[in-house]
Amino acid sequence: MPDRLLLPFGGSAPSAHQLGKAHLGGKGANLAEMAGIGLPVPPGFVIPTPLCALYYDAGGRLPDALKAKLAEGLAHIEALVGMEFGSATNPLLVSVRSGARVSMPGMMDTVLNLGLNDVTVEGLASRSANPRFAWDSYRRFIQMYSDVVLGLDHYLFEDALEIMKDDRGASLDTDLTAEDLKALVGQYQAIVLKTRGEEFPQDPLEQLEGAVAAVFGSWRSERAAVYRRLNDIPESWGTAVTVQAMVFGNMGETSATGVAFTRDPATGDRRIYGEYLINAQGEDVVAGIRTPHYLTLSAREAAGARGQSMEEAMPAVFAELAEMFERLETHYRDCQDIEFTVQEGKLWLLQTRSGKRTAKAALKMACDMVDEGLIEADEAVLRVDPAVLDQLLHPTLDPAAPRDIIAVGLPASPGAASGAIVLDSETAAERAGRGEDVILVRVETSPEDIAGMHAARGILTARGGMTSHAAVVARGMGRPCVSGAGGISIDMEARTLKIGSKSFREGEIVTLDGASGEVMLGRVATVEPELSGDFARLMGWADQHRRMKVRANAETPEDCRTAVRFGAEGVGLARTEHMFFGAERIVHVRAMILSADESGRRAALEKLLPAQRADFAEIFRIMEGRPVTIRLLDPPLHEFLPSREAEMAEVAEATGLALGAVRRRVAELHESNPMLGHRGCRLLITFPEITEMQARAIFEAALEAGGGVEPEIMVPLVATARELELVKSVIERTAAEVFAEKGKTIPYTIGTMIELPRAALRAGEIAEHAGFFSFGTNDLTQTTLGISRDDAARFLGAYVDAGIYPRDPFVSLDTDGVGELIGLAAERGRGTRAGLKLGICGEHGGDPATIQFCETQGLDYVSCSPWRVPIARLAAAQAALHKA
Ligand code: ADP
Ligand code: MG
Ligand code: MG
Repeated sequence: MPDRLLLPFGGSAPSAHQLGKAHLGGKGANLAEMAGIGLPVPPGFVIPTPLCALYYDAGGRLPDALKAKLAEGLAHIEALVGMEFGSATNPLLVSVRSGARVSMPGMMDTVLNLGLNDVTVEGLASRSANPRFAWDSYRRFIQMYSDVVLGLDHYLFEDALEIMKDDRGASLDTDLTAEDLKALVGQYQAIVLKTRGEEFPQDPLEQLEGAVAAVFGSWRSERAAVYRRLNDIPESWGTAVTVQAMVFGNMGETSATGVAFTRDPATGDRRIYGEYLINAQGEDVVAGIRTPHYLTLSAREAAGARGQSMEEAMPAVFAELAEMFERLETHYRDCQDIEFTVQEGKLWLLQTRSGKRTAKAALKMACDMVDEGLIEADEAVLRVDPAVLDQLLHPTLDPAAPRDIIAVGLPASPGAASGAIVLDSETAAERAGRGEDVILVRVETSPEDIAGMHAARGILTARGGMTSHAAVVARGMGRPCVSGAGGISIDMEARTLKIGSKSFREGEIVTLDGASGEVMLGRVATVEPELSGDFARLMGWADQHRRMKVRANAETPEDCRTAVRFGAEGVGLARTEHMFFGAERIVHVRAMILSADESGRRAALEKLLPAQRADFAEIFRIMEGRPVTIRLLDPPLHEFLPSREAEMAEVAEATGLALGAVRRRVAELHESNPMLGHRGCRLLITFPEITEMQARAIFEAALEAGGGVEPEIMVPLVATARELELVKSVIERTAAEVFAEKGKTIPYTIGTMIELPRAALRAGEIAEHAGFFSFGTNDLTQTTLGISRDDAARFLGAYVDAGIYPRDPFVSLDTDGVGELIGLAAERGRGTRAGLKLGICGEHGGDPATIQFCETQGLDYVSCSPWRVPIARLAAAQAALHKA
């Protein structure tokens, strides 16, 4: 049992807010804090989050010790407001509010006006000259309590209200008279008795216990569970419960309720932004029953809206509110999102929290607050969630443009793109080659689609999740992608895309919104990202605080240029196989693979050499002396094998082999588990001529580029020190040959990926041959967890739901397991070689939580897709600041 079952706030209660949001919930902590600095907050008490777990441990019952304490909490409030809970003449009413560590707006339950019954309602009525007020409060209470605590359908009550309004010819509930409302209360009670077989509870203490239990219960409601899953909130946190004296915005024309932001959450501009309603209560403003009005005159005028702004209708209270906002901003040093109520001209604050904002607003607010002297630059760096930068780095759809939505899938890779529908990668490459914008539409994509995906403006798939091939590759390339659009199907015969009963021909224009998952017919106008101004300022500050370097995974000239533009300090992973898929090269690659002997392979490699050299020279040129890590050939050979007849014929012609021989060779090379098969350094060892060709291409290109180029050559899929030693000897021999031929040398380093558990464990020996380690966390995750990423979609969701892994381990590193191997490898590697350079180059390299982990392990750099470089720069700066 926690030592304190409830924590009072208001009056001279010692401020409990230091206990923090984890204990009091965000709402409770902020109410206590506001009360502590003398802001007008109705007094109350917080039942802290640990009680939520106790409630569930007891099988969904309130602990007796807590029940006994409630009277004490009520006494605290009663003393401050001079009213008495359950009194027939001067009754105290309270709200019972939920509030977790982080805000989950509208996900959990709240009950207002608690403490009303057939007797106290008369006492409440005597407190106001407005005859409607008490009965309005009572009918609201019965509906809310019945819904939240008794589990009755709220439609039952809403229907009764509508019938009453029709009956009386009233268009709004504020048009109903006290007599109408009183009659409605009678009807509501009859509904409760009829559906429940029991009277509406009249005992205020019973009501209170019921409401507290219901708020705890709402923590595990379906919608709260879904929200938690989407936002990575652990179930173990629990909710706190705040019990607080009611104030009334429904007392008449001098009363009101509203919500406000201290700055514009869409643009970041420094102006009050919000809405209010006169003679209203609680959620009326957001419920949409009545149209709320603007707070400020300027906002009302800008919108051309009718109805008085609060500034016009209640100028004195508005001025007080504006001043309150200043105080809140000075105190919290951040934009606040506030709930307030005006009771007969007196202003009360009911909630404050840091206001949710768009990426653009987040940047503007952070920069403005530095200029205003509210925060320091390092704090501005901590203020912006790196993940939201994604919204800013891609062209986005013009919000003002009309949209004709034809399908919706998963928002797999952000950004917007328009183009002609194409149904296969060859067509995509061909039409894009003619300068056309195309959208590649596939059931799902495979590595063979790389060229088509690259050529396309955007990618749409019928199947696959957020970590499917299409999604991962599209994010890596910065291509917008909508994956798993279940409603679409592809007819390759007719060459059409079908959505429901409609079909769209190849060539028709569609637009994808990778941030929302929407697919639209026709071209929707876009707006380009803004990389100067606030963005550049914040990134500048981030770079000052960052320790780890940020590199990009890039091999095409376009990706390398994007990487440099986004501030990458090098290439952490250039995948040479991606260059093998080009139309004029793939045939030589296939010829090489299919050759039965070394001389055949050498002949094919001879043809690939100039192309590879040119690729590398181009990368070195664009990277202008920044470090470049080139990985030697890695993937399973089957990814290159011809599968269709036409492709086999092509290879037969290029190699002079008979078609039958090609077919046989393809069959021979079939592997039952290619990901664990003949790939990576296993290829480089069994076919050293591949290593030779690639090393030669690298050295020749580096010599050609000159100017401080210092290639880092990376050997993939090493499990043992001997493997690295063997490949290394071939590279070194080739280097010596090339340097002798050219009469010039350049410095270079040979290192390895650490992507197998054995390599991590034996890192001490491997480091004897390695100048650097790069953690290939995609394969290291697959091999450590024994989960194939491409097949994980079927069960991983259920695994995350069941709490087996807290997040998708292919998105955010499994720091407990895979992370332990990384830590161990880092330690053992550095034990052998003090200055061993360490980096990470998996998809995880762009994930802020993983980057934080890399900082704690003292890695030298992270490498991620070019489009995530700014995110990584910011996340690395935050990680360094957190560590400091
Ligand atoms: P949520 O977390 O869903 O916003 P809240 O607990 O904030 O739920 O309450 C819902 C509404 O009820 C808010 O508009 C809030 O301002 C109002 N409210 C809560 N407590 C009181 C109170 N003591 N007096 C008046 N209004 C209240
Ligand atoms: Mg609220
Ligand atoms: Mg790998």
